Amino acid sequence: MTAFWTEPDYDDHELVELVRDPHSGLTAIIAVHSTHLGPGAGGTRFWHYAEPKDAMRDALRLSRGMSYKNAMAGLPMGGGKAVILADEDGTKTPDLLAAFGDAVEALGGKYVTAEDVGIGEADMSAVAERTSYVSGLPVEDGQAGGDPGPFTAMGIYLGIKAAVEHKLGKDSMEGVHVAIQGTGSVGGGVARLLAKDGAKLTLSDIDEDRAARLASELGANTVSPDRIMGVTCDVFSPNALGAILDDEGVARLDCAIVAGGANNQLARAHHGKVLADRGILYAPDYVINAGGIISVTLEYLCRTEGQPCDINEVRKRIAQIPERLVEIWRESERSDLSPDVVADRMAQERIGRR
Ligand code: NAD
Repeated sequence: MTAFWTEPDYDDHELVELVRDPHSGLTAIIAVHSTHLGPGAGGTRFWHYAEPKDAMRDALRLSRGMSYKNAMAGLPMGGGKAVILADEDGTKTPDLLAAFGDAVEALGGKYVTAEDVGIGEADMSAVAERTSYVSGLPVEDGQAGGDPGPFTAMGIYLGIKAAVEHKLGKDSMEGVHVAIQGTGSVGGGVARLLAKDGAKLTLSDIDEDRAARLASELGANTVSPDRIMGVTCDVFSPNALGAILDDEGVARLDCAIVAGGANNQLARAHHGKVLADRGILYAPDYVINAGGIISVTLEYLCRTEGQPCDINEVRKRIAQIPERLVEIWRESERSDLSPDVVADRMAQERIGRR
């Protein structure tokens, strides 16, 4: 392994481990950024990387992101992430998942895993045969856990309403125009919730049939994926890809607010300031999209520590996302720092890094 501590994304991570199992062909990196608030929690990504250094960068960046997300969600968890370096064919065998489970178990609870890109509920159930440091397992109705998408969508919906009140002074979504990029699990859920409130919706997805079906269900409009960022609207809600807020992307926006669920929306750190300079209110992604991690974490704490498993506890905590956003926006106005910088500082303080 390269000297990971010389990588630009290394941020005093507490643990970075290369896992190799020749028998199953497993190569993985487990990174724990901080355990200040609790075990380093974050999903496992299964991905074919062109270069091993790309896998290392993902593990370092994503685990730090999880520290910030968990801290800002008020969860008793630190930040961690695992990446499994898939071969070109994406071969995923029971042996490979078992070896990965053994590696998580060997860390003795410093890292708690869950699903991420390329890893589903069935894979996590397989990993759970070898370790108890797992969340995102199947649950019964009415209990915390299960598919995180609807919980993430709920937090984003509440965050958009808070942003509209804060920026536009409106306490109703009636007639407020929201342009939604990505109509999958999260974006589709946000659209349905907003439609109930009478918001005007413009939808877009690279799966144009998917966007069209949802638009006809909700009485919304659609535009092609290359036009969604330039739609004149009140709120642009990115719920597809990361890094869309680059120089060109921000210049194209014709909205008052950016608030959506996609991870890592800012292409570079300075794009938060570019948005602020254009007078656009930004809801920091890892604060507004924490609904899913709240649900998954409460599922874990219910199973391992006997804490409340009730879905209403998840809803109660998701309902606090708007308050946190308003706190960030007020501090941003007071300090003249952009909301992403304010959020990073708050998170760093919570994990004892400031
Ligand atoms: P999903 O796969 O269900 O939906 C994503 C949708 O985006 C798909 O319909 C896809 O066709 C569409 N898409 C991809 N590229 C696009 C483009 N250029 N323009 C328009 N549409 C495009 O995924 P999801 O679970 O809804 O997640 C959406 C985003 O939210 C991702 O960035 C994810 O990392 C983030 N996120 C999800 C959760 C969760 O609980 N699912 C939690 C936090 C963050």
